[in-house]
Amino acid sequence: MIAINNLSKYYGQLPVLKNCTLNIKKGEVVVICGPSGSGKSTLIKCINALEPFQRGEINVDGMMLSDKKTNLTSLRQQVGMVFQSFELFPHMTVLDNLLVPQMRILKRQRAEALNKAQELLQRVGLERHGHKYPAQLSGGQQQRVAIARALAMNPKVMLFDEPTSALDPEMVAEVLAVMAELAAEGMTMCCVTHELGFARKIADRVIFMDGGEIIEDAEAETFFTAPVSPRARNFLDQII
Ligand code: ADP
Ligand code: MG
Repeated sequence: MIAINNLSKYYGQLPVLKNCTLNIKKGEVVVICGPSGSGKSTLIKCINALEPFQRGEINVDGMMLSDKKTNLTSLRQQVGMVFQSFELFPHMTVLDNLLVPQMRILKRQRAEALNKAQELLQRVGLERHGHKYPAQLSGGQQQRVAIARALAMNPKVMLFDEPTSALDPEMVAEVLAVMAELAAEGMTMCCVTHELGFARKIADRVIFMDGGEIIEDAEAETFFTAPVSPRARNFLDQII
């Protein structure tokens, strides 16, 4: 589903991704972890073409990102993204947050979009909140709306960048529960997260990054019980 080959990226002279190679199969759940500044966000932004890169290649379900003919709107429709900071449209109700992209981007009729929106709000446990504005919801609720909005595009892949890092502790579980359910339904997912308990439960594989490099790419259980690199071991010691 996602094939990243020898990807390198610079911000000016600063190398932020160094020769990264990573493959994610359909239905696979991959967790990316690593210290702050290691390039995790940059890597997943590259997958969604939110950041350009200088060397290497990314192929998302047959779409080559370096190919100028690749339609970025269609790519971003197929790759859902959820950020740390929710990024809902603040001036729209929850329902409109889900309706407007479906009607504008997928050209769905209102009735069809409404059906989909209601089904998704139910799925994330917010069916009674459609009339509210984002600011009237808790952080956990806003993040669940953001997930529902991404799912409304029928993406083939979901990317998450620290989706629970901005949440109060009591709201982390409700967002992780929605993500775990998605994973169980077979969604292809790539999540940057420091919730390693969650990672251990739902990830098929864990990627450990440091200094712009993929240091480790291992089955989740192997990563947590027997990380190979000293840097990963050190990271786990600090975080657990
Ligand atoms: P992580 O998500 O692992 O914390 P990032 O991908 O955000 O790491 O950042 C990787 C490196 O790139 C860091 O050194 C960061 O300072 C740098 N960086 C990130 N975004 C920019 C930017 N827009 N311009 C310049 N440098 C950036
Ligand atoms: Mg980041």
